[in-house]
Amino acid sequence: MSGEESLLTPANHDRDVLGMRHVYPVVSRRAGGVSIGVNLNPNNACNWRCVYCQVPNLTRGVAPEVDMPLLERELDAMLEALVRGDFMVRRVPEGCRVIRDVAISGNGEPTTCRQFDDVVEAIERALDRFSLLDRVDIVLITNGSCVHRPEVERGLRRMARHRGQVWLKVDAATREAAKRINGVAVDPERQMRQARRAAALCPTWIQTCMFRMDGRPPPEEDIQAWLEFLARLKAEAPGFRGVLLYGLARPSMQPEAGRLSPLGESEMHALAARAEALGIPARVSA
Ligand code: SF4
Repeated sequence: MSGEESLLTPANHDRDVLGMRHVYPVVSRRAGGVSIGVNLNPNNACNWRCVYCQVPNLTRGVAPEVDMPLLERELDAMLEALVRGDFMVRRVPEGCRVIRDVAISGNGEPTTCRQFDDVVEAIERALDRFSLLDRVDIVLITNGSCVHRPEVERGLRRMARHRGQVWLKVDAATREAAKRINGVAVDPERQMRQARRAAALCPTWIQTCMFRMDGRPPPEEDIQAWLEFLARLKAEAPGFRGVLLYGLARPSMQPEAGRLSPLGESEMHALAARAEALGIPARVSA
């Protein structure tokens, strides 16, 4: 464990805070407590390259093979420190000293991990050992690109049995906007299929990052396409729960960082209101 004694706050959640390879603690605003992060991409590799990505030294690629015994040891050590140790008192602000979830959220895309279902199973076993299974959520934060893979489908089915939820990234619903924001050629129809698939297996929220680029807010035609995407998903996927809107909570580590700036709180809430007008629950985390 690191000798650092500072409290973990939403602005201070470096992933190597405890010196572990895969597991890190975050005091999460969204979760209202401690979120245990599981990073399957310690190699900083992702199959996308979003302009706002906060991962330093991001490279194009996939998750490496996970050392499963190491992951299990790290999960146990983290849970031991949080549940039985003095970690909460020493490092977590008062009022946040509760474990809210385990979030599979790496320095890259976690569904590129070929052992995805084994990872979910390991998380379940660890939670069970600490009597937390079905008492905390298991969240997957993903760009959705590999949810169709058999090992991911198996993992999502497992998650759904134990308070699982998927947060699936859809920042843009046109090819042009996706290329500009996510750095990939994504077909919106494919994204729709992936979102439907995820929602069929596990309750799914769409997560969308909104911001200004070169001082300009998202173009109206992009917003329209995004709203149409959400409305169609609502009609076609009963497991779709709503949309999570977030801004630039942490600085981008990509070359475009200087071109990005946050939307105002009222602009974010106005976007959420437009989704809600379509009957889609919307939460803002600026
Ligand atoms: S999908 Fe996530 S990890 Fe990958 S580039 Fe985008 S923000 Fe970064």
